[in-house]
Amino acid sequence: MSVEDKVLVSEFSRSGIGFFEAQTVGKVPNLSDGGRFHDVPLVLRRDPIFGGQTRFVLGSKLQPEEVTDLTPIVNAPGFCPFCPDKIDAVTYPFPTEMVNEGKITRGKSIVVPNILSYSTYSAVGVYDRTKHFVDMKEMDSNLIGDLLTGMVDHAKAVREYDPDAKYSSINANYLPPSGSSLVHPHIQSSHDYLPLSSQGKLIDEMAQFKAETGRGLLEALIEAERDLRVRYVGDWGAVSILTPFAPVGFREVWIVSKMKGDIVDLTEAQVGDFARALAFVIDGYVKLNLQSFNFAMTGSGDAEVVDGNVLLRIVARSNPTATYRSDVTYFERLYNESMIDVTPEETASFLRG
Ligand SMILES: [Zn+2]
Repeated sequence: MSVEDKVLVSEFSRSGIGFFEAQTVGKVPNLSDGGRFHDVPLVLRRDPIFGGQTRFVLGSKLQPEEVTDLTPIVNAPGFCPFCPDKIDAVTYPFPTEMVNEGKITRGKSIVVPNILSYSTYSAVGVYDRTKHFVDMKEMDSNLIGDLLTGMVDHAKAVREYDPDAKYSSINANYLPPSGSSLVHPHIQSSHDYLPLSSQGKLIDEMAQFKAETGRGLLEALIEAERDLRVRYVGDWGAVSILTPFAPVGFREVWIVSKMKGDIVDLTEAQVGDFARALAFVIDGYVKLNLQSFNFAMTGSGDAEVVDGNVLLRIVARSNPTATYRSDVTYFERLYNESMIDVTPEETASFLRG
């Protein structure tokens, strides 16, 4: 038997997007068959844009069956700079020549400078400055919409102040398993002269696809996924929702703007559509007992060359249980390969339902 017989490769292209999948088996002892070795399906896929590989270990139980009581985390004593009794005193305004308003408030949200200098320009945005904790159940489109609007307005002000800082992203950690050091829910942005690594990869791929085909990469991806149906969730105003062919994380969902341009080109109505789509996905996570997530929203950088769209990717992270098992193993951390137990087709089907 040759390797070709042991690994069944299927490759196809749709709307110019290349999909690669390899089917093989894992050979393991079967507990209900006296430990005799059985073949279990093992599927590998490559992401058509970012290039990372995902391995699907089907039938595994990597997802939480029940929710963790968050009370000890929420009530843990300690200093919180975002709580109503502290936030005015311990946060600073942006310089008025950079952001006219100083501190940006929209509804219950507030956007202020981040004191950690991880990017040339950055901001931290708090969903609700009137209380310490916002459960994912409470994250509706108004709450998310106000905060995203404030963050996008900050991005617009920064771009005007320094047009060379053209690599903008708006990103979230929610609760400690996602990397958040503060429990009080907040999001963060970056505006840099050089892109984040996968932000740069996406922009390069968009530029190359534009040069080769004359059209937008994410536009073509939406078309391909709409055509293939199994990972396409639906359209909400200015955005499309789909699950990616090769997820990098559990229950990953992509929200793609139909309009060309960067984060700073989004209108308030388009930001509202992103917020509605995000609230819809987070509500889905709540129904799946998921309690932590990351999201990353980036756009085209140099819009004219790239002809790109804004992409928001969201993944669920491990729940904050006492015997915390990270969802990031040596596969993800050291091999750039994700191990996933639920297919994107199942997640899309769940969300459509
Ligand atoms: Zn707080």
